Parts: sequence; C-alpha cells; structure tokens
Amino acid sequence: MQNNHKTIQEPARHLACLLETDIAVVGGGTTGPMAALAAARQGKKVVLIERFGSLGGNMTLGLNTKPSGVLSGGIPLEIWNLARSVGGVGADYVATTKIKDVKIASPCDPEIMKMLLTRLLHEAGVRVLFETVVSAPVMEGNAVSGVIIESKGGRQYIAAKVVIDCSADADIAASAGAPYILGDGDAHAVQPVSMYYTLANVDVKRLADWARQNPQEVPARSIPEDDKDLDYGLWLTGFNNLIKAYQEEKGIALQRENITLKTANGVLYVNATRVLGVDGLSPLEMSDAMLEIYRQIEAYTAFLIEKVPGFENAHIGQIAPVIGVRETRHITGEYTLTGKDVVDCTTFEDSIGADNCAMDVHEVKGADVDFQGLGPYEIPYRTLVPLQVEQLLVAGRCISADHIAHGRTRNMPACMATGQAAGVAAAVAIDTDNSVRNVDVKRVQEILRSMEMPLKAKEIA
Ligand SMILES: Cc1cc2nc3c(=O)[nH]c(=O)nc-3n(C[C@H](O)[C@H](O)[C@H](O)COP(=O)(O)OP(=O)(O)OC[C@H]3O[C@@H](n4cnc5c(N)ncnc54)[C@H](O)[C@@H]3O)c2cc1C
Repeated sequence: MQNNHKTIQEPARHLACLLETDIAVVGGGTTGPMAALAAARQGKKVVLIERFGSLGGNMTLGLNTKPSGVLSGGIPLEIWNLARSVGGVGADYVATTKIKDVKIASPCDPEIMKMLLTRLLHEAGVRVLFETVVSAPVMEGNAVSGVIIESKGGRQYIAAKVVIDCSADADIAASAGAPYILGDGDAHAVQPVSMYYTLANVDVKRLADWARQNPQEVPARSIPEDDKDLDYGLWLTGFNNLIKAYQEEKGIALQRENITLKTANGVLYVNATRVLGVDGLSPLEMSDAMLEIYRQIEAYTAFLIEKVPGFENAHIGQIAPVIGVRETRHITGEYTLTGKDVVDCTTFEDSIGADNCAMDVHEVKGADVDFQGLGPYEIPYRTLVPLQVEQLLVAGRCISADHIAHGRTRNMPACMATGQAAGVAAAVAIDTDNSVRNVDVKRVQEILRSMEMPLKAKEIA
C-alpha cells in the first residue's frame, strides 16, 4: 500500500484544559524524567506526559539499559546510585574498544528503573500522565503556551509557561515550526533501527570463559575478572567471523557485521537486529521494519544456540515492546554541535554538561558500527534552544547536533545531562520572568554545579 495524496479537512473544535502548569515535559523516556525532576526541585509545577505506560523510554522499554559512558554527576548519577542501592545497577566498568578504552556506567535493570523513576517523580511532586500522547503544541504567535494531548479521555490541552520537548523525535518543536534536519540530510540517511531482546537460560559463565579464551572473536569487550560480577559486568561486541561463516553456511543475509551481548541483573541482552534506511516518523516504514526484525531475531537466536558456547539451552526471554530508533530529526538551535566539536573537544562558555560517551555511529548504508572511546567534550546550552520558536526547549537525542556529533550526544548520559539542564533553565527563566532563549545561563550553570554536575571537559578527563 502506497501513500496517497488525499486530504481531509479536520473541523475546528473547542478543547478543554485538563491542567495548568509551569512546565510541561513531553516524553517520559531517558531524558524527560531528568528535566521534570530538575524543574520540580527548583520549586516549579511540572506535568510530564508519556505515551506509554511506563517511564524510561529506550533505556527501559527499549531494553537498552546501558549508558555508553560514565554518569559523572547531577541527577543521572544520583539515580544510578539509588538504583545500585536496591540491586538495580552493578559496578561501573571499562570497555576495551579499537581506539581508546571507555569508562562505562553499569547497565540498569529496566524494571527496577521504571519503578524508581516513577517514585522519584511522584516524591518531587511531578504530575505524570501515562498513556497520553502529545499531538501538537498550543501556540500564541511564535511562542508555545501549552500542548494538545490525546488519551482515552479524548483531546484536551495543558497550559504551560514553558514546554520541554523530550520526545526524541522533536515532535513538538517540528509542529511548532522550529527548523530541523533529518539524519544526515534526509529521512532515510539515518542510523538504522534495531530491537533489543533477551535470552533466558544462558550459561553466562560458560560464555564468559569462551570470550576470555577467544578475545579475537570479541575485540570490544569487558569481562569481569571475578565470576561473581558477571550479573552486570559482561559486555561483548564482535562475533564478526562467526556471523560471516554462519551466513555463508546457511545462505542467509543478516544486516550486521558485529553484534553486542551484555548482562544486566543476570539477564542476557542481545543487540543484533538492524534495518537500514527506515524513516522513524513513518508508520508504514516502521511497521514493515518489524517483520524484518523478527526474522533477524529468529536467525540470530539460532546462530547463538548453534555456534556460541553458553547458549545451548537458551530461548527467547523478552522482545522489546518498542523499536529502537537511533536517529530522526535534529532541531536547528542557536548553536549546532558538530562532529569536529565532539572529536576536538571544543570548550563552550555556555556548557551545561561535560560528557565522555563513546562515539557510536552505525553506518547509514553498510553493516559496520563505529564504536570508539574519545576524550570528553562539552554540550552548550544553545543546542537546546530551537530557532524561531519561543518558550520551547529540546532535550535528548534530537538536540541541535549534526549527524556525527549525534553519534556521541544520542547516548544516554548526554541525553540525561541535556534533560537536567533544560529543566533547570526552564525554572530559572520562569523565576526571572525571562524567556528560555535569553535565560541567565550563568545562573543555570551555578545551579547545575550545586547539583555536582561537571560542566567542563577537563573536570572529567
Ligand atoms: C538499539 C539501540 C541501542 C542503543 N544503545 C545504546 C547504548 O548502548 N548506550 C547508550 O548510551 N545509548 C544507546 N542508545 C541510544 C539511547 O538509548 C537513546 O538515544 C536515548 O535513550 C534517547 O533518549 P530520549 O529521552 O531522547 O528518547 P527516549 O528514551 O526514546 O524517550 C522518548 C520518550 O518520549 C515518549 N514520546 C515520544 N513522542 C511522544 C509524544 N508525542 N507524546 C508523548 N510521549 C511521547 C516515548 O514514548 C519515550 O518514552 C541506543 C539506541 C538504540 C535505538
């Protein structure tokens, strides 16, 4: 079935106001809860709207679980430490990659994280609306003054002084008229979509022993010295030779040269599937991608069971309920972070967070993954401020960064840092009767520092 060009006229109607708030946060994924918590702790009334029935987005529902860098301070580190105190996070580790080792925060248990985030937001006084989609901004001229929501209760709106778009796809920024670019230039020049899944009944110790003895098969890896740390500490990327041979033996084509396996709370997570050139904003293309993803899940599971020690009795545990989308829109903000900035580690006066995530670029057309450690870099506040639309901030994977810079900023620690900064900035803007564009960035930085968030790259080098 093809797109056709028919249109209908939607009749105008009056919408009821469900809630009035200082700050509306769109999206309760990896980034949104950081924005909501930061703003609420600055004394602001906050509503967070999430289309699914749990918090955490790609971190929890997407089964990603593992930040590709350390959580160096602020609310993200506080949450990781809290999760660790209840067994929901293990010890941080160092992963060997082809250029430089990367310090990596432990993966989290996604179920514990969902509950923890929900409790923290409740304790901070944030009103969370689950199972509610934000479909459009409410506009007064070129300023956002709320959001339109759709739920089982119908179509309503929420009035807000500032909106923070943490939808990952910049849904609200785009419909408010903010400029953006798609991927590396168009909707199909984007990093591939994937779907995580778990395998049950894996002999993780046997797998780790095999990986210890065959480092050439898993060149990027972290294997704990002590088997008691295997529950959270095993991370293996590679298997290229085995996968190539398997494809030739079976006469099948898989889309990825290497795959990643990792543990979190004793569960074995598989990041192996990939579909290239999928427009994450197209329901038709996303739905078609599912079929291919399920084919690959069956094939990779058979591969692991047949060829990799430790999987002999394994079976699929859980398939993520959502497709993992790596890249769609990047808003065009007051500043666009470039690939050169994140490689050369440019410093910025208005930095709102220092980050040391790996560079993680999955080829747009090929089968390779460029995952490498680099030095720490800084994220300027201006990347959160879209051009042309007032009282709107954007945080998470759709900030103003080009395709290569996005290879670092899309990682969870960077997304969380931008969410936290957006929450603080929105609160400061309201407190000082200023716009988010002209907010006193020095004041925002002071508050972030009081939360023990490092802002300069040299602080985490
Ligand atoms: C397969 C895969 C593997 C990855 N591996 C790693 C890794 O190992 N380490 C790492 O650090 N990063 C990794 N990433 C990247 C990282 O997980 C994401 O970029 C990051 O989690 C994005 O955070 P976010 O808050 O911007 O988006 P999300 O976490 O996706 O959150 C967006 C939230 O907004 C909600 N939402 C969206 N639109 C609306 C709407 N209109 N109304 C209401 N709610 C809405 C969604 O339901 C979701 O909860 C990976 C990504 C993928 C896809």
